[in-house]
Amino acid sequence: MIDLRSLYQDVILDHSRNPRNSGPLEPHSHSANGNNPLCGDRIRVYVRLANGTIDNIGFEAKGCAISVASASMMTELIKGGGVEEARAIFARFHDVVTRKGDISEAEIEALDKLATLIGVREFPMRIKCATLPWHTMAAALDGVADDVTTE
Ligand code: ZN
Repeated sequence: MIDLRSLYQDVILDHSRNPRNSGPLEPHSHSANGNNPLCGDRIRVYVRLANGTIDNIGFEAKGCAISVASASMMTELIKGGGVEEARAIFARFHDVVTRKGDISEAEIEALDKLATLIGVREFPMRIKCATLPWHTMAAALDGVADDVTTE
C-alpha cells in the first residue's frame, strides 16, 4: 500500500529542496515582502502582470520546508493564469487549512498539489508557514507597501 503521508512528505521535500520559479523576477510589476516571525520564514514575491494575467512570478525565500514548498507550488499553480483565479485558489487553500471540522474529498481534489500541505491543519503554527507565500502574493497584487506579517 502506498503510504500517503510519506508520499506527501516527498513532494514537500522535493519542492523545498528544488523550488520552482525561485529567484528575483526582473522586470516585475508587483512585489511584496512577507514575514512569519514565529518560525523565521521570510519571503519576497515578484509578479509580472500583463493584461490581468500572471505572466510570470518569482520569489526569494528563507524559511522552513513548508513555507518554501508552498511558495514553489504556488508559483506553479498560478503562473500563466488570471489574477482572480490566483485569488480563488488561495481562498480555497486558506479555507481548507484554517476551517475546523471535516473536509470533503472534492475539496481535497480541488487543491491539486496543495493537497500535500493539508497536514498543517493540525498545527496552527504550520498553517502560517504554508499560507505566508499566498498572503504575500495577494499583498503584491494589491500593491500593499508594508511587509505582510503573520503576527
Ligand atoms: Zn515556517
